[in-house]
Amino acid sequence: MKVFVQDRNGKPLDPTAPVRARILLKRGRAEVVQREPFTIRIVDREGGYTKNTVLGIDAGYSQIGFSAVTEKEELIAGVVKLRNDIPKKLEQRKSYRRCRRCRNTRYRKPRFNNRKRTKGWLAPSIRQKKDAHIRLIKKIREILPVTKTIVEVATFDTQKMQNPEISGMEYQQGTLQGYQVREYLLEKFGRKCVYCGAEDVPLQVEHIIPKARGGTSRVSNLTIACEKCNQKKGNKTAEEFGYPEVQKQGRESLKATAFMNQVRWKIVNKLNCDYTYGYITKKDRIELNLEKSHVNDAFVIANGDNQVRSKPFELSFRRRNNRAIQTNRKGYGRSIRRKRYHLQPGDLVRKEGILCQVKGMFNYGKWVRLANPFGDIVNSNVRKVELVKYGKGLSFT
Ligand SMILES: [Zn+2]
Repeated sequence: MKVFVQDRNGKPLDPTAPVRARILLKRGRAEVVQREPFTIRIVDREGGYTKNTVLGIDAGYSQIGFSAVTEKEELIAGVVKLRNDIPKKLEQRKSYRRCRRCRNTRYRKPRFNNRKRTKGWLAPSIRQKKDAHIRLIKKIREILPVTKTIVEVATFDTQKMQNPEISGMEYQQGTLQGYQVREYLLEKFGRKCVYCGAEDVPLQVEHIIPKARGGTSRVSNLTIACEKCNQKKGNKTAEEFGYPEVQKQGRESLKATAFMNQVRWKIVNKLNCDYTYGYITKKDRIELNLEKSHVNDAFVIANGDNQVRSKPFELSFRRRNNRAIQTNRKGYGRSIRRKRYHLQPGDLVRKEGILCQVKGMFNYGKWVRLANPFGDIVNSNVRKVELVKYGKGLSFT
C-alpha cells in the first residue's frame, strides 16, 4: 500500500511508504488531506523531483478501469462502477411532475418551452458517464504526478477503418491489422455467432464464401461464427447454408459508430490526454498473458509490462442528494425536501471516538441518525458528533 503525498501547495509528489508517512505525521511535518486513498500534505516542502507516471484509462459504459504506472511499479489501480440508475430517476421525476400537475396546488406560472438544448448536449445518463471519467482523471492527477494520460478511445481506429470493405483490407491471423479486423467484425456482427446467435463462446473469423471456392480474405467476405457453426457450414457459402442475410450484411459497411466513442473523444480533448485503441490493448494484454479485466486493460494502456502490481481499489459514484418525495409528513402534503443539511447520508463522523456513517438528518437538522461499526443505528444530537469526511460523489471502498 502506498501513501499519496502532496507538497504544501497541493502539488502531487511521488507516493511514499506508510512508515515514512507515519514519521512525517508524528513530527508534524505533514497533515492528512484525505483518508481514502490516504493522502498527506508535507507542510514544509515545495515541489521536487517526481518520477514519470503514466495513467491508463479503460473508458467504458458501465465500468472504468484505471492504472498509474511508473518504470518500476504500479502506484494505484482500480475499477469504478458507474451509476446506471439515471434513466430510472428521470422517469421518477417525470412522474412526480405529472402527478403534481393534476393535484390542486397554488398557481404556478407556466413553464414550458424552456428546454432548449445547447450545442454538445448529451443525454443525462451519458453526460454522467462522461463527467465520471473526467472526475476520476482529475482526482488521480491531484494525488499523483501524472506526466501522461492515455485513454482507450475505441476498439478500433475508425479513421483507418472507414471503408475497410472498399479499401480491401485483408485478415491475417496474429497481425496487428488482424486484431483490428477481428474487432471490427465483432462490432459489426454484434459479438455473437451470426448463424446460431451464441454469445460468450470463442468466436472465429469466418469466410462467407469459403476460401476453397475462391472467397477472399477481404473484410467484406468475413463474418464471426462459433466453432460448431463454422465446421457445420464447411464448404458452403452463407447463402447455401441458409443465411442469405449474412451474405448481404457482409457487403455493407458498419455505419453506426458507438455513441460512447464520441464521449471518449470529448474526454481526450477536454483533459489533453493521449489515446490508444482497444485492439492494441487486447494484443498487448494477450502477449503479457494477463486475464481480461478492466484493471489489466488499464495497466496495459498505461504501457505497463512487468511492474510490481498494486491491489486494485473499487470505487463507486454516490448520489450527493436524496431528492425523494417525503410522504409521511403528518397531515401535510407531499413535498420534496429542499433544505440541504450540513450532514448528508454517507458522510463519516466521529461520535465519542467511534467512526460512524451518517444515515440522515431529522428534527430540522438538529439530530442525526448514524450507523456505527457494530451494525447498530443510533440517534445523536448533531452537536455531539464531529465531521471526519464528507461522502463525496466518488467514493473509495
Ligand atoms: Zn454458432
